[in-house]
Amino acid sequence: MKSHNFYAGPAILPQEVLVEASSSALRYEDGLSIMEMSHRSKPLAAVFEEAERLIGELLDVPDDYKVLFLTGGASSQFYMVPMNILGANQTAGYVDTGAWSTKAIKEAKMFGNVNVLASSKDANFNYIPKDYEVPSDIRYLHLTSNNTIFGTQIQDFGNPSARLVCDMSSDIFSRRIDVSKFDIIYAGAQKNLGPSGVTLCIVKKDILGKVERTIPTMLNYETHIGKDSMFNTPPTFPVYVCLLTLRWLVKNGGVAGMEKRNQAKADLLYGEIDRNPLFKGTAVAEDRSKMNVCFELIDDSKNEAFLAAAAEANCIGLKGHRSVGGFRASIYNALDIESVQVLVNLMQNFEKKHG
Ligand SMILES: *Cc1c(COP(=O)(O)O)cnc(C)c1O
Repeated sequence: MKSHNFYAGPAILPQEVLVEASSSALRYEDGLSIMEMSHRSKPLAAVFEEAERLIGELLDVPDDYKVLFLTGGASSQFYMVPMNILGANQTAGYVDTGAWSTKAIKEAKMFGNVNVLASSKDANFNYIPKDYEVPSDIRYLHLTSNNTIFGTQIQDFGNPSARLVCDMSSDIFSRRIDVSKFDIIYAGAQKNLGPSGVTLCIVKKDILGKVERTIPTMLNYETHIGKDSMFNTPPTFPVYVCLLTLRWLVKNGGVAGMEKRNQAKADLLYGEIDRNPLFKGTAVAEDRSKMNVCFELIDDSKNEAFLAAAAEANCIGLKGHRSVGGFRASIYNALDIESVQVLVNLMQNFEKKHG
């Protein structure tokens, strides 16, 4: 029996993607596993081309941007972004909305000046700061669209005057976005796109080549742009699994289809959290994430009992991050609403027993 997978990442993938990936892991073309084939071979070139094309179509990526498949996780983008676009005497603005933003800030300080424009640290990151000024002279403004650990999400990017750089690791392809508002978007694949091992970057080309420092070849976006993500051996199998997920996205209504599906799942789960007298949400209501739903038992002495009941119902990965406690249900694109219903039933049964 398949479990209901609520892990935050690596996370659930569509069942049909896993079936096809398994078959290609054994035999793809010429009697070989896809993992045994050269990245220079025609079939692999076709995989990369189609993946790049589908990302362009799904997100409506303008022509002056490049879609890249890199390695080192979103965490490597924390330093690659400032290394490539922040001059030593320039200042970047950062909004600190949780652990990942904090890490991005730490790295950026190694390359230039960092102005932390706002932070929600004062309330353990349970909200998204909104009323802050964006200075006109910053090189870029860095945002984290969805805070995987704390369960908050930027609902509206507005129209800031600054160039935007955004870590979209945990909500890319979950809703419609206007790529043209951003100069760099990056995302580790393992939340909403594919397996771990590959990082998606969408880079506006004309912002590059403007800093004076020497950038190591592998850390320079221009290297990877010039070689279509094939300067060195790319993570071929992870990119292939991403391609299968992208095809699944297209078949299921694209990002607009996902947005609808994700809204329905979030409504169902938050509806129960707000109704059930035993539970409460941890994030401020207007900033609640549609990807990572953080909640807790008002009586936390019952935590172990709830996790045990969850395990019995085959609900996996619900334990909250240690910095928040309680529970976190990650309800990414690939999770069916039926799984959310199982969790809601579980919460209702728990109320009957312990309420
Ligand atoms: C998971 C996550 C990261 C870290 O990604 P890695 O690929 O493990 O480096 C960064 N930012 C956000 C928002 C995440 O959810």
